[in-house]
Amino acid sequence: MMTTNDMHALTLKTHRNRRFQAFVLILGLVILIFAAASLAFFFESPSINYKFGWEKTMLRAAKVIGLIAAVLLLLQLPLAGRIKFLDRIFSLPGLYNLHRLNGYIILMLIVVHPILVTIPEDRMMIPFETRYWPEWVGAALLVALFIQIVLARWRTKFIKAYQRWLVFHRALGWSILILLVLHILYVSETFEFEGPPRTAVISVAIAVAILWIAIRSQRLLVRKYPYEVSQVALAGKDTHAIDLVPVHGKGLDYLPGQFAFFSFGSKQLSDEWHPFSMSSSPTRPNKLQITVRSCGDWTNQAKTIQKGDRVWVHGPFGRFSHVLESDEKEVIMIAGGIGITPMLSMLKSLSDKKDQRRITLLWSNRSAEYEFNDDEFEAIADRLPNFIYIPVFTDKEELKGKFGRLNLDRLKTLLTGSSKDALIFLCGPPPMIRQVRRDLVFMGFPASAIKEELFAL
Ligand SMILES: Cc1cc2nc3c(=O)[nH]c(=O)nc-3n(C[C@H](O)[C@H](O)[C@H](O)COP(=O)(O)OP(=O)(O)OC[C@H]3O[C@@H](n4cnc5c(N)ncnc54)[C@H](O)[C@@H]3O)c2cc1C
Repeated sequence: MMTTNDMHALTLKTHRNRRFQAFVLILGLVILIFAAASLAFFFESPSINYKFGWEKTMLRAAKVIGLIAAVLLLLQLPLAGRIKFLDRIFSLPGLYNLHRLNGYIILMLIVVHPILVTIPEDRMMIPFETRYWPEWVGAALLVALFIQIVLARWRTKFIKAYQRWLVFHRALGWSILILLVLHILYVSETFEFEGPPRTAVISVAIAVAILWIAIRSQRLLVRKYPYEVSQVALAGKDTHAIDLVPVHGKGLDYLPGQFAFFSFGSKQLSDEWHPFSMSSSPTRPNKLQITVRSCGDWTNQAKTIQKGDRVWVHGPFGRFSHVLESDEKEVIMIAGGIGITPMLSMLKSLSDKKDQRRITLLWSNRSAEYEFNDDEFEAIADRLPNFIYIPVFTDKEELKGKFGRLNLDRLKTLLTGSSKDALIFLCGPPPMIRQVRRDLVFMGFPASAIKEELFAL
């Protein structure tokens, strides 16, 4: 298990390499996009020779746009594939955001592509002759992508259960990729016959298939190193703390604040993967702990988890950790509800290190029944000389805490005396995080110092 010194060494190494690796990857992507776009110029299809002037320009632009969309579409798999190497550079939540944004960009490009093709051809409809099947494949691709994006954006309106949507999303994603390869290979003479463009498309398709196999085998490998539930305890209203121990001795190497995906082999639970932040600290290597609050189909059944149940863990992921930031700056943690879990992990680690910095924790809950870990906070306070814990309750006035939502005025009052140079960690429901971030920036905290973890991917 990792010692504090190991963590610090990893921090420095990760930081040094991260920017360079990000630069190399982005450069690689730009080169790939240029290479793909250049096919439209170096390997023109003979039919374009019958076009002149603006018509020729439009057809060429359509091809460039289509090829750029194809490269961006291939990027969707690595962006959502939970690849640890990419997580260390961009963080998994960041990659999922890019996956979403990339989807919108692809849809835009794929809508423009057929418009630019059809105008010079002087017709807006694809004829119903069989020889036009590659064009129809392209049209199906556009429709499939549109459905994919609408369902992802407004998922809860169409498919209630997240897992059912995920299965559909993946199946449609693969259909889109297959339609894309067929469309590219047969729609234009540039790719139809043997030559570098066709070889390039087939090689890239094979590379994507290999990447997918690598991603799947990583998840299968995880099944070889199970954990076992050693204790389940009620921790506040609707919340359970679940302690895990590795069956084969070696446990997960993680940083305080990180999360992982967990799959439970419990009798009454489905074994689907769910993300949870570790609420334990790597400085206490004998125990991995997650704390789960009931809020949906799966988490509502968390209470049925029993001692001895098998658990598989895929991770760790994320860059939400104080060890990846300066170890000199004052720390402010603001948690909403179950968003306390990564903070607990960091606080345990900071207290084991007897950190001397001023550390303020604001934990907002509906009422005191949702609060847990009183003993832990006392132990933390004993070891951290400058720890300030401020519970805030939104629904009910409680004797020991502050009352009301964390709005601008309240934040100003509660953070009086905090340095504007502090590192800030925010975790909780997305609307709260967005509001608190805005308020903090308004108060003069630099946006770059605010690190956030949303409990939604
Ligand atoms: C980085 C991260 C860390 C988290 N840490 C904690 C934690 O420490 N404690 C805790 O109680 N909760 C945590 N969550 C939230 C937790 O993952 C969800 O509450 C849980 O997965 C909901 O599942 P459900 O079937 O009960 O609810 P559902 O109603 O099915 O889902 C509710 C929401 O949870 C998200 N979700 C559901 N299933 C998945 C999945 N398989 N993968 C990704 N997102 C999913 C979706 O946004 C969905 O809208 C975390 C989430 C993330 C992204």
